[in-house]
Amino acid sequence: MAYIGLGSNLDHPPRQIRNAMHALDDLPGTRVVEDSGLFLSKPMVPPAGPIAQPDYYNAVVKIETQLDAYELLDQLQHIEHAQHRIRKERWGPRTIDLDILMFDDLQMNSERLILPHPGIQQRNFVLYPLRNIDDSLEIPGRGMLNDLIEHCPQNGLKYLGTIEGYEE
Ligand code: ATP
Ligand code: MG
Ligand code: MG
Repeated sequence: MAYIGLGSNLDHPPRQIRNAMHALDDLPGTRVVEDSGLFLSKPMVPPAGPIAQPDYYNAVVKIETQLDAYELLDQLQHIEHAQHRIRKERWGPRTIDLDILMFDDLQMNSERLILPHPGIQQRNFVLYPLRNIDDSLEIPGRGMLNDLIEHCPQNGLKYLGTIEGYEE
């Protein structure tokens, strides 16, 4: 079981999120079992990001997959590429970002892959969507989701509705 964080703030973001979710479901040996619905969040503030950029649309999906964690990362990068993600500056605007938040109970820190994702506990746009999927989740090595949420203000994060049903 893995959890994927999706984010977009360029070129019809709700559509980008929806397309990426379908692409995940189409990966070999993989299916989306649940999703958080769609959220709207404020961009991370400098120095963690550029000064001004559009608000973000975010979601988290839970998947079952027979891929291993590195194969999954490769596939996520293919999907990002297919949806025309261009890497300019770190944390800058993008059509789609797909991060592995957790992969089973794996904890690792390699050059290409850190698990659970290092940003999880500071990011309201990850924690609150995760809670929509499972409110008794434990993040390996980090603690209980609900405890992390207590220390992470919602900060303008808004739930917008279902990913499939959202009209731009
Ligand atoms: P952040 O990771 O802080 O959310 P970002 O998503 O904008 O920033 P990217 O440009 O998408 O960063 O990815 C940079 C690198 O992060 C990737 O090339 C990938 O190898 C690495 N990476 C490490 N751990 C993970 C993970 N859990 N999920 C996705 N990418 C990861
Ligand atoms: Mg990211
Ligand atoms: Mg990323």
